[in-house]
Amino acid sequence: MRRLLGLATIVGFSLFTSSFRSFAADTKSTDQATPDSTQKPDKDKKKKNKNKDPDEIGNREVDRGPNFYSLEKEIALGKQLAQEVERQAKVIDDPIVAEYVNRVGQNIVRNSDAKVPFTIKVVEDESINAFALPGGFFFVNTGLILKADNEAELAGVMAHEIAHVAARHGTRQATKAELANYMTIPLIFMGGWAGYGIRQAAGFLVPMSLLKFSRAYESDADMLGLQYMYKTGYDPASFVDFFEKIQALEKKKHGAVAELFSSHPMTDDRIQAAQKNIQNNLEARPEYVVNTSEFNEVKNRLAMIENRRKVDDKSGDPNKPQLRKKPGSGTSDDKDSKGDDDERPTLKRR
Ligand code: ZN
Repeated sequence: MRRLLGLATIVGFSLFTSSFRSFAADTKSTDQATPDSTQKPDKDKKKKNKNKDPDEIGNREVDRGPNFYSLEKEIALGKQLAQEVERQAKVIDDPIVAEYVNRVGQNIVRNSDAKVPFTIKVVEDESINAFALPGGFFFVNTGLILKADNEAELAGVMAHEIAHVAARHGTRQATKAELANYMTIPLIFMGGWAGYGIRQAAGFLVPMSLLKFSRAYESDADMLGLQYMYKTGYDPASFVDFFEKIQALEKKKHGAVAELFSSHPMTDDRIQAAQKNIQNNLEARPEYVVNTSEFNEVKNRLAMIENRRKVDDKSGDPNKPQLRKKPGSGTSDDKDSKGDDDERPTLKRR
């Protein structure tokens, strides 16, 4: 029984995705980082200041709260779950793709509150998602990389997931579940951003009740993730940009975002909170990293790998599920590949 509950703590799944609709709907302008301090919330800032202040990253306890799991136990649990994921999913072993995504992630981890080392792998799954298990076992779906337009968008989603681990949301939520005496936790087929894209590629079973973080944990991860992005040098507004874009895709193909979303109401306060965080707590910098030529190269390479695999699949086992190729998800993205000869990172000036 104990083991069952342990297994049930697989978490890290990014339900921040569930509110992208309101994210996008409320974001008219992404240029939120103006140093306008007219509405400085001095009063409510006093107590929680440390958690809101990116200068305090690493010097604070963002994981405070009841937790039955020691860090060691959490890592052991995450490792066990990660092995299960790797048995069921296909890990991309291309060294260039793997190394790049790992490097982007480790860079954010270094600028986070995380106290555990991270293992970062890319898994074959078209859904636009990433998920980090307790203890720092982090999986990035190929769909996320292929749908991101630049490195900062990828980094934003990764930073959000790293924040869940840093704040130990998984084991804290598991602790709450145990306190509430949940003995059986049904498994759910995990399809990332709930059906955007095709799910059979790398579906795995993860425990349902902990697939969903509480709203408080999600906004916590939003806030921390924005700080980690910012501290790493990325434009935090890219996080919001990404939501907008995914929402536009969803509009074109209505109903693509399904089950998980319907059970998870989207809240306007969350997007507003993210914007407020950027405005009030992340002092605008003259420039941010938005993209690198390396991102474009890796994305193109990954698209090629994916296409090759799809061709192989078709000519191979006829019983294998066929992947449908969406327009625009192919190898060449003119907009992105343009800058290939430019080796410098793209900087956005404000
Ligand atoms: Zn999340």
